[in-house]
Amino acid sequence: MEPTSIVSRRQGIVFIISAPSGAGKTTLIKGLLKRFPEMALSVSYTTRLRRAGEANGRDYRFITPGRFSTMRSARAFAEWAGVHGYLYGTPRAPLERAIRSGRDMLLDIDVQGARKIKRQYPAAVSIFVLPPSWRELEKRLALRGTDRRETIRKRLANARREIRAIMRYDYFVVNRELKIALESLQAVVRAERLRVSRLSASK
Ligand code: 5GP
Repeated sequence: MEPTSIVSRRQGIVFIISAPSGAGKTTLIKGLLKRFPEMALSVSYTTRLRRAGEANGRDYRFITPGRFSTMRSARAFAEWAGVHGYLYGTPRAPLERAIRSGRDMLLDIDVQGARKIKRQYPAAVSIFVLPPSWRELEKRLALRGTDRRETIRKRLANARREIRAIMRYDYFVVNRELKIALESLQAVVRAERLRVSRLSASK
């Protein structure tokens, strides 16, 4: 038997990334997927409206509250939560398929979702992305230009609440400089992939 045959089989790892909006999470996730193209990104369902530049099926699956409620009753979501007044849910089937097939999957979800996923999938790895400062976060939200003043205010208040949840996460990454933050994320992925406890017992 080859020495590496014992380490060649494992389940897919679920990586959860949470951050207050404006922390630069989307850019980080794009960078991570470029670095690890074999990784899948979970596409959530949401009742919020599509923003300019977003594509249905790529960024989210945009659905009506009625359809969301039907899917929720059918237990089609591994977790769901209300965020900024809208509903968001992670579809269960692709997630379970990825885990079974050994494909790692990235979940871009909020702190409530992270808690629910960790409860159901204890082997999941959670990472919290921190903005370097409040001032910088506000600046980034305003620069984005897609949100109204009132929405920005709501998102900032939400951010202050969300950051308090960091203690429940496994890792944190400060997004001061994109390149360094990306390197930290890559280090987490690489280390988690090398965990002996993730190997399936070979016979
Ligand atoms: P946005 O509307 O700005 O795209 O996302 C708002 C927040 O919802 C972000 O923090 C994002 O991570 C979170 N979110 C997106 N999809 C899901 C999901 O399926 N479940 C949960 N719990 N949060 C989500």
